[in-house]
Amino acid sequence: MANYDILMVRFGELSTKGKNKKDFIQTLYLNIKNSLKDFPSVEVEKRYDHIYVHINNENLDSVLNRLLDVSGIHSISLVKRVEKDIEVIKKTALDLIKEEEGNTFKIIAKRGDKTFPMVSDEINRAVATEILKNTSLKVDVHNPDIPLSIEIREEGAYLFCKTVPGLGGYPLGVGGRCLLMMSGGIDSPVAAYLLMKRGITIECVHFASPPYTSQGVIYKLQDLLHVLNRYQGEIRLNIVPFTEIQDAIYANTDESYCITLMRRMMYRISTELAKRRHCKAVANGESVGQVASQTLDSLIAINEVTNYPIIRPLATMDKLEIMNIATKIGTYDISIRPFEDCCTIFAPKNPKTAPKLDDIAKYEAKVDYDSLIKKALDNIEVQIIK
Ligand code: ATP
Ligand code: MG
Repeated sequence: MANYDILMVRFGELSTKGKNKKDFIQTLYLNIKNSLKDFPSVEVEKRYDHIYVHINNENLDSVLNRLLDVSGIHSISLVKRVEKDIEVIKKTALDLIKEEEGNTFKIIAKRGDKTFPMVSDEINRAVATEILKNTSLKVDVHNPDIPLSIEIREEGAYLFCKTVPGLGGYPLGVGGRCLLMMSGGIDSPVAAYLLMKRGITIECVHFASPPYTSQGVIYKLQDLLHVLNRYQGEIRLNIVPFTEIQDAIYANTDESYCITLMRRMMYRISTELAKRRHCKAVANGESVGQVASQTLDSLIAINEVTNYPIIRPLATMDKLEIMNIATKIGTYDISIRPFEDCCTIFAPKNPKTAPKLDDIAKYEAKVDYDSLIKKALDNIEVQIIK
């Protein structure tokens, strides 16, 4: 493969953001620099329209792979920089285009450096002639298989025809911070990924019910968050002691309402923790209709305890779509490791799909849950996963 010198990063959706654009680019620039800190000789250069990553002595594929995990990147072109000599440019263009697949091409020259002796059109023609002479490719100016760009700048001539799609979304951090309810199943890590891709920094809350749930669940969460560290280098995990609340619920509630009450307690605690941690929303892996506690009727009953924004990135996704994303990002195999979740351990035989608010109030009045919630919040264990 041609030894490319530079990766040219395009912003995509950012360009529609008007006056926020500068902040976005600055955030993306810092995120890119941060993600490449294991490559000491790489240089990151910020320009108005692109970010250039100079590979220098590092391995191009490794650097490219890191960039594919950075949100807010629309696409990345592999760029070859050569001296501003038309003979060198012609030869390089030919070398690059020979590595591509397709039958048609188009040369798109831009002369940024006006001291260069040929105008864009002359460059287009000279290079196209060279390619027509030495390959069986044909020119197609409207819909070429291989568009080859040549930019003449002060520092040199930049050639590129290989472009790969980036992760898309927004740069991490521009969307603020959100508290994600993280269970260790398949869904919540996918929700985490979708939030981060949208530019939202996450922090996690997990409800642990030892001895019903084991330390193995925590190890599993750590492994999942390590995978997600690819998108966010440091993730805070808040572990809430939930056993006492859970015992109180099961001792004082009709079995069919246990899950409803449990979810309401989780929402109450998450809302309070989100406020304390300056998170602007609570998120989870709920998907409408997936289980009894996720019907719209159940969501009314559960959501009633909070007026905070609740983001459900998976709300309308099929399990299969969710599993595909989990596989793609590498969390699936960890998620399917057998483990106990507080929701599954006490899973009632007949959970209510349409819980009634009157009945809920009756069951919740039997215990001083406010004190139990306060106690749980005061005894959170924090781990930083990085
Ligand atoms: P997952 O695959 O993420 O475990 P699920 O399909 O098993 O989800 P539920 O167990 O009903 O669904 O949970 C729905 C959502 O509630 C989860 O995606 C997660 O966001 C949150 N949740 C469930 N259990 C816990 C827990 N122990 N701690 C924190 N959040 C939880
Ligand atoms: Mg679960």
